[in-house]
Amino acid sequence: MSAFLPPAAFADRLDRVRKAAAERDIDALLLSPGADLRYLTGYAAIGLERLTCLALPTEGDPALVVPLLERPAALASPVGALGLEVRSWGETDDPYALVAGLAGAGGRPRTVAVANRMWAEHVLRLRDAMPGIDQRLAGPVLRDLRAVKGPEEVEALRRAGAAVDRVMLRMGEWLRPGRTEAEVGRAVADAMVEEGHAVCNWTVIGSGPHGASPHHDVSDRVIQAGDAVVIDIGGTMPDGYCSDSSRTFAVGHAPDEEFLAYHEVVRLAQDAAVSAVRPGVPAERVDATARDVIAEAGYGEFFVHRTGHGIGLEEHEEPWIVAGNGEPLVAGMAFSVEPGIYLPGRHGCRIEDIVVCTPTGVERLNDSPRELVVL
Ligand code: ZN
Repeated sequence: MSAFLPPAAFADRLDRVRKAAAERDIDALLLSPGADLRYLTGYAAIGLERLTCLALPTEGDPALVVPLLERPAALASPVGALGLEVRSWGETDDPYALVAGLAGAGGRPRTVAVANRMWAEHVLRLRDAMPGIDQRLAGPVLRDLRAVKGPEEVEALRRAGAAVDRVMLRMGEWLRPGRTEAEVGRAVADAMVEEGHAVCNWTVIGSGPHGASPHHDVSDRVIQAGDAVVIDIGGTMPDGYCSDSSRTFAVGHAPDEEFLAYHEVVRLAQDAAVSAVRPGVPAERVDATARDVIAEAGYGEFFVHRTGHGIGLEEHEEPWIVAGNGEPLVAGMAFSVEPGIYLPGRHGCRIEDIVVCTPTGVERLNDSPRELVVL
């Protein structure tokens, strides 16, 4: 991966997160491979049974602990230019003792915060290596930084949005009567990479009754003329930022009258919810705006999920656009707005765009047609 940000930007993030940890009386952050590590250092390491861990004490210098065989990969990442100390361990060394020593920076840490997605086997062995330690989650320390995107992150999400839009615009190449969902899914996954993603993360091809299952994957069901088909696709770009978009198509000819009516309800609900986005608006109000439109049309009980989720280096991250989340939106927050209606046994509909809260309102990062397209 080419360097996405200059080393100074990563150094600034490390500084800010260290201050945020100190404010919470955390002595050290311990971050294994994942979005937190990539956000702070640019290193896109893979989580394995051999421990890789950034030890970031609130006092003292950070160090990246890596297996010896991964040292070249770590140094080839932005970590090399960042000047971060890289401590490698051999096959018979104890990496947990190494991390424990670095976490304390000379003293004895009382409280460490571990990455939310650190493997349990690493969490428990770190606990054994630091008797009496209070372990917490690092997520709350990082979330304020990661939830509010900088201009270069918004630009990365724009590129991801444009890439998935190009795939949506090509849907007629693959989505036809007589093909199975699995065949369409394979072609769509290839197109996701052709259009700029490093990897396709999922393809929901929910044809006919399968459209009523929001997280349907693909199946061997043969797509029929007159099917409504929910398409929800997402991938990760080479810079690590994610795309996620949903559209509902009709194949062959338009489905029944009721589908046409509630597809329009979902479109209006999505439009209203996007229009509600601006700084200071509670996240839950965006959810309520979509939900009110759908409930007024009589479909409230069939909108069975939250309206959206944040997106960045992970396809699902904070903020959650859901009832009960009263936190105010902040310029730079990027998240999905994706209401849906699902009629069990019949069909379903979802329309999803990623949006960014701007200083004055909202910017959509997806812009393929939201009106019903019959392929
Ligand atoms: Zn989504």
